[in-house]
Amino acid sequence: MTGEPQDDCLFCRIVAGTIPATIVRETETTVAFRDINPQAPTHVLVIPKAHHRDAAALAAAAPELAADVLRETQAVADEEKLESYRIVFNTGSGAGQTVWHAHAHVLGGRGLDWPPG
Ligand code: 5GP
Ligand code: ZN
Repeated sequence: MTGEPQDDCLFCRIVAGTIPATIVRETETTVAFRDINPQAPTHVLVIPKAHHRDAAALAAAAPELAADVLRETQAVADEEKLESYRIVFNTGSGAGQTVWHAHAHVLGGRGLDWPPG
């Protein structure tokens, strides 16, 4: 069920602490940790602790929690001293989503092309 921890979800396991991650920030409702395969000098994932399959499901089911995630992306950018950065929510396998627990990528520390690939 949406919101409930999923045993087979990688990011629920990171929230639970059963899979290690380099956590950079944590709030009551969110966790931010470094991507294991960074695509930029700063590449941090911000996730809600509650399980929602993607950003759209998160926004529909829990808009306040979606706002918490967005606020945390800004907090990460501030801590990493990023003047410019990109927030990405890959949504659907065709867009590159591989983990089905909503997450914002915070990318920065290098020039970022637009449009993205
Ligand atoms: P997606 O492709 O779903 O938008 O993003 C999933 C991200 O999770 C990828 O950038 C991938 O590198 C990252 N990732 C996958 N497994 C792990 C892991 O075990 N630990 C961490 N920290 N990141 C992971
Ligand atoms: Zn999950």
